[in-house]
Amino acid sequence: MKNLYGFTKDELEHYFVSIGEKKYKATQVFEWLYIHNEQNIWNFSNIKKDVLIKMLTEFTTDFIKIEKVLKGPDVKKFLFRLLDGEKIEAVLMEHNYGLSVCVSSQVGCNMGCRFCESGRLKKVRNLDAYEIVEQILLIQNYIKKKVNSVVIMGIGEPFDNYDNIIKFIKIINDAKGLAIGARHITVSTCGLIPKIYEFSNLDLQVNLAISLHGATDEVRNKIMPVNKVYNIDKLIIAIRDYIAKTNRRVTIEYVMLNMVNDRKSDALALIRLLKGMNVYVNLIPYNETENIGFSKSNKERIDQFYNCLKSEGLNVTVRREFGGNIKAACGQLRSESE
Ligand code: SF4
Repeated sequence: MKNLYGFTKDELEHYFVSIGEKKYKATQVFEWLYIHNEQNIWNFSNIKKDVLIKMLTEFTTDFIKIEKVLKGPDVKKFLFRLLDGEKIEAVLMEHNYGLSVCVSSQVGCNMGCRFCESGRLKKVRNLDAYEIVEQILLIQNYIKKKVNSVVIMGIGEPFDNYDNIIKFIKIINDAKGLAIGARHITVSTCGLIPKIYEFSNLDLQVNLAISLHGATDEVRNKIMPVNKVYNIDKLIIAIRDYIAKTNRRVTIEYVMLNMVNDRKSDALALIRLLKGMNVYVNLIPYNETENIGFSKSNKERIDQFYNCLKSEGLNVTVRREFGGNIKAACGQLRSESE
């Protein structure tokens, strides 16, 4: 049986038409699931009993479970147990502009970024769309508040699970779904170029973030194996194409690793790469872990790097640090079962 939380409204419309019912039943189902927060199909009272009986033989509305919640200042980390026992995590961050959730897209990740704690756990499987939707529903139920924005930046490479990610975005963006505005949804990729082209042709106004983390192939090859397949030149061409097609600004994520990618020469290379492009550079202070041989750039080095970019007119910010003390920061999400 398929989980109803993994269906877009379009897919449900097709389903209802295929069983001889009217399309608008899909909207009613969405209203029950996402507006009335009703999990029991039997309680969808504006749908005929014989249709409900049929639905009950074809769909479940089973939920993944919250196994643990770790709390820090302005941040909560949720450990979830999936129905097959696998574990994933999501992080809730309280900003002054609202609540944002960072969701996982896979169990483990095959991209192997050297500085990333999440990537140490190899990919076990992709998450189904319902498993990503339910991360948000469970967090909303837990905090009894609505989430304002979503970033797909937790465990996994979203573009390695492309179809489920697109479904997930459509479900949470739907006005009768979770109604999270497209401009409040961000997908982050380490640079799977064919999918960047595919994404640029979609009629979705969501934000794209690229985990660049290095401005030359020499540096990037050392820290991100994906660069050996899709190098920087090809990646920049794909980003330019995306910007030209969508007219949207792209976020460039750049984690600051001491003496690896934070030197003056790195800043100059980054300027050469990005100058004149409609991008916004987000410098991320690295969260050190016990396991990985990288250290954090100190404040002085981050400031120098920032100033160098700024003086050449790049849009740049230093990301506020979240959750380091509860291992909830970027790259530290990791299944506790490991
Ligand atoms: S940074 Fe992202 S893409 Fe890279 S290994 Fe970690 S989870 Fe995977």
